[in-house]
Amino acid sequence: MKLYNTKSKLVEEFIPNNDKEVKLYTCGPTVYHYAHIGNLRSYIMEDVLEKTLNYLGYNVTRCMNITDVGHLSSDSDTGEDKMLKGAKRENKTVLEIAKMYTDAFFEDCKKLNIKKPEIVAPATEHIPDYIKVIEKLLEKGYAYQSNGNIYFDITKLDDYYSLTNHKEDEMVVGAREDVEEDLDKKNPGDFVLWFTKSKFDDQELKWNSPWGIGYPGWHIECSCISMKYLGEFLDIHCGGVDNIFPHHTNEIAQSEGYLGHKWCNYWFHVEHLNDSTGKMSKSKGEFLTVSLLLEKGYNPLAYRMFCLESHYRKQLVFTYEGLDNTANAYDKLKNRVKKLKENAVGEVDFEVVKIYKQKFVDALSNDLNTALALTTLFEVLKLDTNNKTKLCLIEDFDKVLSLDLLKEDEIDSNLLEYINQMIKKRNEAKQNKDYEIADAIRNELLEKGIIIKDTREGTTFELRG
Ligand code: AMP
Ligand code: ZN
Repeated sequence: MKLYNTKSKLVEEFIPNNDKEVKLYTCGPTVYHYAHIGNLRSYIMEDVLEKTLNYLGYNVTRCMNITDVGHLSSDSDTGEDKMLKGAKRENKTVLEIAKMYTDAFFEDCKKLNIKKPEIVAPATEHIPDYIKVIEKLLEKGYAYQSNGNIYFDITKLDDYYSLTNHKEDEMVVGAREDVEEDLDKKNPGDFVLWFTKSKFDDQELKWNSPWGIGYPGWHIECSCISMKYLGEFLDIHCGGVDNIFPHHTNEIAQSEGYLGHKWCNYWFHVEHLNDSTGKMSKSKGEFLTVSLLLEKGYNPLAYRMFCLESHYRKQLVFTYEGLDNTANAYDKLKNRVKKLKENAVGEVDFEVVKIYKQKFVDALSNDLNTALALTTLFEVLKLDTNNKTKLCLIEDFDKVLSLDLLKEDEIDSNLLEYINQMIKKRNEAKQNKDYEIADAIRNELLEKGIIIKDTREGTTFELRG
């Protein structure tokens, strides 16, 4: 397995610390809003990574945090806490919105066939772990107390900036818009481990600590949760590219300062999904969610396939036109598999299975080339072999692709509601002799693979695929 490592900036052979055991950590969602489909691109590709490792015979233990405290509006130490902002927006408590958006996140993951990690750890449930690590960092001289807050002193490490291309002189006030002057810090790049004093709105959730009542910084949660559940030696750490700096850079500083040795070997980062105006982000206000795609009649797995069609290290621009193309290809794919199932004859030809399995493995082992893995799937459909052999390969590939290729379609309730609404609108248009509107509705449905049929009993529909 070859993987690009952000740390070395090279595609490297993946060698776990402990034979076939892989310890994998994923930065989880900040649960102050729904996840947008950009966030979910990262989680889809991390899911493919985990499933590829399993497919290749590794045993993966995966842990994910849930950020329900400490993530400020800027990824550095400024701005309001995002959770507090979300709670105010919705007139709820922080814990209420944390629960609601955590549940919504895992619902979205389910719809996208993203496996839930076996260890899911909310940040607010690990306060004693942060205190233990911060105490040790103070003891070892990596951290200092200043005007109520505890800071990490980045000059205590030789290679603080090793994960990122940032230069120290970019961290001075004025060079970057997220760097604010903080006279309590020894160095402009130092970051907060524990807050007792913030110039922003007061926190709803605070805890006792040896330094006073306060709350943890965002970065410390991932270091502590990862070390607690996955141990001192981590194989792979994942996130979106925006996490490289400062979040992951600070995680390395804290964990290695605490442990006194190298912590994580491979850093896996997924490039952003952009919309026509740039990076998709929750703070922009309106953003695309899985529910919105469902309301518009898309199968979430068409979005999963849309992500698999491009490489995780390339930026991806989302357009409805692009998604329509993939949704059509997905419907056709399911239709072809359905036909194979209806006529599943022959004996599995294991020679053919071996050759195409190897092609699939080669694609994924080459820094997760999911587009090539999909091409291999399409090659299998075209093979001059019996249907049983093709189905055997498709079932096997779907362990990683997770596109439900062999599953019979059940119509999602949101999709059903959308279709019924559209049929109703079309019937009204027809009654009003507004045939242009009626045709436009039929065509809109057709583009999504929904075929309208007018029968004597009324209007029905059929899904292509
Ligand atoms: P958050 O909920 O903001 O903490 O982000 C959750 C995950 O989504 C993190 O790993 C981010 O790096 C990632 N992420 C944020 N925006 C995007 C985007 N537009 N495209 C892909 N991944 C993203
Ligand atoms: Zn994290």
